[in-house]
Amino acid sequence: MAKSQGSVPEPGAGKEWTDSLSRGRVPGPRLDQQRVVDGRGPSTRSVHAGTYEDPGTGAVGTPVFQTTTFKFTDDTYDAFDQGHIRDVPIYGRYGSPNQWTVQEKIASLENTESALVFSSGMAAITTTLLALTNHGGHIVSSRDVYGGTFNLLREDMHQLGRTVTFTDPTDIDAVRAAVRDETQVLYFESLTNPLLKAVPLVELGKLARERHLLLVIDNTFLTPIHLRPLEHGAHLVIHSATKYLNGHSDVTAGAVAGSRKYVDRIWSQMLKFGGSLDAGMCFLLERGLKTLALRMGQHHVNATAVAALLDGHPAVHRVHHPSRPDYPWTWLHEVCPDGWGGMVSFELKGGDETAFKLLDRLRLPVVATSLGGVESLVSLPFNTSHSFLTASQRAEVGIAPGLVRFSAGIEDTEDLVEDLEQALAGL
Ligand SMILES: *Cc1c(COP(=O)(O)O)cnc(C)c1O
Repeated sequence: MAKSQGSVPEPGAGKEWTDSLSRGRVPGPRLDQQRVVDGRGPSTRSVHAGTYEDPGTGAVGTPVFQTTTFKFTDDTYDAFDQGHIRDVPIYGRYGSPNQWTVQEKIASLENTESALVFSSGMAAITTTLLALTNHGGHIVSSRDVYGGTFNLLREDMHQLGRTVTFTDPTDIDAVRAAVRDETQVLYFESLTNPLLKAVPLVELGKLARERHLLLVIDNTFLTPIHLRPLEHGAHLVIHSATKYLNGHSDVTAGAVAGSRKYVDRIWSQMLKFGGSLDAGMCFLLERGLKTLALRMGQHHVNATAVAALLDGHPAVHRVHHPSRPDYPWTWLHEVCPDGWGGMVSFELKGGDETAFKLLDRLRLPVVATSLGGVESLVSLPFNTSHSFLTASQRAEVGIAPGLVRFSAGIEDTEDLVEDLEQALAGL
């Protein structure tokens, strides 16, 4: 059984620690009652992997274990004695059958040993970054990351003794130049918000290996259906499960997945920060996950149809979508040939005023923040997700006037396209 207590590296004390911990390679945690599915397709995995088969009732779905504590057995005492308390049900914050069920589904989808679920994406990010770095450590990231992550990196990390360098996430030379002796983590998003910049994942993986760094990828926008970063050199993959993984705009949750060596270390940090996920939310997330592959297919079809309509439309200046011929980061197509999720962004010729008019005229998409739900959502980055940046910082990351962010839902494609057509026609 794997022990959970990782010794944190001394700053600048060589980088061998990332690879030298001789951990047990036991996947999970999982109970004997949980289904194990290996080597099947993504829908088979998300429907069956980890599902708890209740021996008493034969219930087909995982019951909700609405309990915060579990009766001690000989196994519990053994676990305390041998230090593998992540593997037995003890206490709600430490782990529960409902957490283990969703974690097993996510680990199976990401094709890795272990996962952890959290009470939000930000809980996953904060806990992971603080577990993998220490006082004196350095992180390389980018200004293009999610606003909450950017604020954590910019406002809090230096107070906690970690320094951060922000680079252009698409420029591997800039990332390489930012690495120092104290660097411990490279932190990037596989596809950024809202311009869908793709990071050079394979190159980042190589750099991480060369310099003994941990590569952490927030894969919220692509999900394991489109991209599995761990297969391309990342050490850990993070999700805001609030978005596509749950997919119904009704759960706030987060996840991290990777080998047990790292996830166990993040787990022991999670025990202290306390951002674990409640059993009821696990149940909803489990239910959402079962249709992930089906939903991602339709999100992709819809986003691509919306991008095609927008490209060349007289009211539109520019479309940001991997399906368009002028999309600059073509390495995305190599690691991710089948789809890119449901996000599209575009610049309207008339600037932000025209963008407000478009939002007023749309009938189907809801004007709201967030993304990845079954319903289409639309918002303007300048006054929402990127309002914390100054105008010149916005220009620097490419947020132009009139930029609209569109999260295509799973509605019928022709209905979405027709609605957008009528809204654009009146501008
Ligand atoms: C929404 C989001 C987050 C934060 O997730 P929460 O569940 O809202 O805490 C992190 N990263 C990305 C890319 C996101 O879109």
